[in-house]
Amino acid sequence: MAHTYDYIIVGAGVLGLSVANYLSRKGNFKILVLEKHGSIGQGNTSKSAAGFRDLFTSELNIKVSKSSIAYYEYVHKNLKNLGLEKIGYLILEDEQSARRHDKIIPKLKSHTGVDLVDESDLIETGLNTNPSDDEARMMELPHIVRGIFGRNCGVMDPELIAQHYYEEALKRGVEFKFNTEVKKLVIKGYPELGIEGEPFTWQDVKISGVIANDLELNGNVILANDVWVNKLARPAGIESFVSPKKRQIFQLKGDQISKFFRKNKLNNYPGIPFTFLPMVEFYVRPSFTENSIWVGGSDELNRAIEVEDDPLPEKEYFEYNLAPILRQYFGVNNFELSGMWAGQYSMNYIDLQPIIFGDNGIYIVSGSSGSGIMKADAIGRIASSLITGEKITELYGGEYVRSDALTIENRDHEKEEFIF
Ligand SMILES: Cc1cc2nc3c(=O)[nH]c(=O)nc-3n(C[C@H](O)[C@H](O)[C@H](O)COP(=O)(O)OP(=O)(O)OC[C@H]3O[C@@H](n4cnc5c(N)ncnc54)[C@H](O)[C@@H]3O)c2cc1C
Repeated sequence: MAHTYDYIIVGAGVLGLSVANYLSRKGNFKILVLEKHGSIGQGNTSKSAAGFRDLFTSELNIKVSKSSIAYYEYVHKNLKNLGLEKIGYLILEDEQSARRHDKIIPKLKSHTGVDLVDESDLIETGLNTNPSDDEARMMELPHIVRGIFGRNCGVMDPELIAQHYYEEALKRGVEFKFNTEVKKLVIKGYPELGIEGEPFTWQDVKISGVIANDLELNGNVILANDVWVNKLARPAGIESFVSPKKRQIFQLKGDQISKFFRKNKLNNYPGIPFTFLPMVEFYVRPSFTENSIWVGGSDELNRAIEVEDDPLPEKEYFEYNLAPILRQYFGVNNFELSGMWAGQYSMNYIDLQPIIFGDNGIYIVSGSSGSGIMKADAIGRIASSLITGEKITELYGGEYVRSDALTIENRDHEKEEFIF
């Protein structure tokens, strides 16, 4: 029996689910989502720090992030708890980085809430802005001179967002098959001649579907399988422009951690903002459900670009790279390491923006470059418009973008100036 669908989506992470939801609203389509794990969001979505921000300078990024945040706030207030906490983003800067960013502050301020926090206010929050003991001197730690605080930023629970899109997609008749790994894409030549050796180059060669659990399923294929996209795309001769990069999070609890949960002047919240020290590739995020902090880093050089099925966290990475930063700037040296996990960013090294492209039966929605949660809503809307041939996408809140703005061919090339 032929199993035929209008669309087969590979991957039930936040992006596959958002695409499934918005695609199901575009017509009476038969849509199937295939997921190798036993439930939704078990890939990089559940590994995420799930921070969101609209601190961007490019028009496309501003529209994509602002509309997604507005949608999440709407859902959180009216439909379903998303664990959304608007605690703000605090980006700490040394003299050099402050000078570099001075020119973009007016741009940021023109579209969102931004405060510059001076060093004395940072010290008041308990930060040691200028560590100078022997260890700090050996590490040549930079002196923090100010912070950029983004008010329309915060954190969410990534699994609850995935759950929201899943429930919406189910309501609209989208089918799901879990524990189902897609092994390969099926390529056919048309018209089909039934001759050995097909497809021939002179035929109309197309992706006709997938092989999953030894079953052939026919339909337009949407690869939303994040860092694993190349495993299916490359054998079929398709370049995805996605490179996997491992990222880890370490969860800490204990008495010294309670100081991260005091009400502070910056966000007027009983918890620090999501705080970044880009000069030393470090961030710390409060987790309100467990009164813990999550500490992570973003090592670029010396971190291989390679895909892993189940990346494991490295305790030594925490001990030698992150713990000294925590000790020096935040005065934390006594804690319980209560959890750790690792995932991978699907990096698009062309411009660090998502990739949404394809035609002729195959589409790729990936390359979220560490921003897949905060941009998932807009990505789902843009992808579903592109796939159904709509030239313009209406985002939540009524802004419009070109549906091909994140394709490889017609990419919106305005450079993002605020990358940290
Ligand atoms: C440590 C860490 C911190 C992060 N922090 C943030 C943050 O603060 N803010 C933010 O916005 N983003 C953040 N991200 C990025 C964010 O998590 C991702 O951008 C987002 O989850 C990508 O969603 P996805 O649906 O594309 O991928 P995934 O959630 O990985 O989903 C892809 C799915 O495809 C499935 N799959 C793969 N291959 C197959 C196959 N052959 N057959 C069937 N199924 C398959 C996988 O099992 C998986 O469930 C972070 C990521 C990590 C790892």
